[in-house]
Amino acid sequence: MFKKILIANRGEIALRVLRACRELGIASVAVHSTADADAMHVRLADESVCIGPPLARDSYLNMPAIISAALITGAEAIHPGYGFLSENAAFAEMVEAHNLVFIGPTAQHIRMMGDKITAKSTMADLGVPLVPGSVGELASLEEARSVADKIMYPVLIKAAAGGGGRGMKVARAADELEAAWREARAEAGAAFGNNAVYMEKYLDKPRHIELQILADNHGEVVHIGERDCSLQRRHQKVLEEAGSPVISAAQRDELGRTVTTALKRIGYRNAGTLEFLYQDGQFAFIEMNTRLQVEHPISEMISGIDLVREQIRIAAGEKLGYTQDDVVLSGHAIECRITAEDPESFAPSPGRVEVFHPPGGLGVRVDSGLYAGYRVPPHYDSLIAKLITYGRTREEAIARMKRALREFVITGIKTTIPLHQRILEAPDFVAGDYTIHWLERFVAG
Ligand code: ADP
Repeated sequence: MFKKILIANRGEIALRVLRACRELGIASVAVHSTADADAMHVRLADESVCIGPPLARDSYLNMPAIISAALITGAEAIHPGYGFLSENAAFAEMVEAHNLVFIGPTAQHIRMMGDKITAKSTMADLGVPLVPGSVGELASLEEARSVADKIMYPVLIKAAAGGGGRGMKVARAADELEAAWREARAEAGAAFGNNAVYMEKYLDKPRHIELQILADNHGEVVHIGERDCSLQRRHQKVLEEAGSPVISAAQRDELGRTVTTALKRIGYRNAGTLEFLYQDGQFAFIEMNTRLQVEHPISEMISGIDLVREQIRIAAGEKLGYTQDDVVLSGHAIECRITAEDPESFAPSPGRVEVFHPPGGLGVRVDSGLYAGYRVPPHYDSLIAKLITYGRTREEAIARMKRALREFVITGIKTTIPLHQRILEAPDFVAGDYTIHWLERFVAG
């Protein structure tokens, strides 16, 4: 097992990784920008290294600075968290080239799944069902037209290098196709430096359902059940549940078998998530994330498995030591992503936190780097806390979430706590009756 790990991230996820390290008896090295010198992950780590100025491209994305920090402190492995360098194949290669261990999949698998066109064709070859669409990249507007005529409008043009919902445009009818094509390519080129796009049928009432997997280096692959992440705004997840209110145990087992068989065949290792759209009883693969997800805690709550600990053990070459039959899922968990934003306009609200009083009690978990007096910097993602509740049933998890949201006090900045309170009261949510389009309408109404 490793003796020291560098955590190449900030905020709640840096804390999350630090906690797993400490429980495993591994020393932790935090890295931080000058804007994060007072951050909780820096305070709690065994050592810390400043890696650059506030802008992420100069600090948390600064590969040579991060590798140097690892070498100087004698860390043996790097955990990338999510976002930043977590899905950067070149970084994973650079880490290995310096005789350090990247806590994640191989660079080859990161690259394969990072290109969504390659990811989809790989999964199709492995027998995983897909959303109908173009086979590969669209070479021209003419090709886009002919594919759209075949799969029928509405269609979605998506960036091959996509992420965070960028480079994605809907064309509801033929006269909207040209604009969607141009806008998606322009946005993809600006955001990812790659303007390759592909097309999918735009589904009108799907749910976003994803499967968490773990794979060791010895051929064992298990799934840890599904998460329902349909509550989204601008294609970004807001509130997630595990399991999904609409998936049966038989459906979960079947999807799990398809996915674990596919991943065994490509020799995937470490943690990963396969994302699907689910409509009319059918699953259709959209992408695979080759990293830990923001919403991983809800899977931990229903399985009792510490996913970060497992990532570290796997990277150290250990066997999972259990099979699918040993993974027992029970109860229900919900996560509310609390951001430093106005709950109505969604305008960013960085600034100094005056009071921070997180909720507690049975079945309540708060993953957050906040404290009273902390200044939320304006330079990074607006996520400031994840509130997770667990119950024996969905009803219990909901009741607990309502209670916990009421107890949660954060003053000095605006947060989305009131938005979550409204969602929790909505009859559609309580009934589990929502699709990926529900929240957008709810917020607008
Ligand atoms: P990104 O990597 O940018 O997050 P995804 O492919 O994961 O992109 O899609 C993000 C979200 O966009 C999905 O969760 C879903 O809400 C929506 N979406 C993606 N593909 C489709 C589709 N074919 N039809 C309808 N909605 C879609």
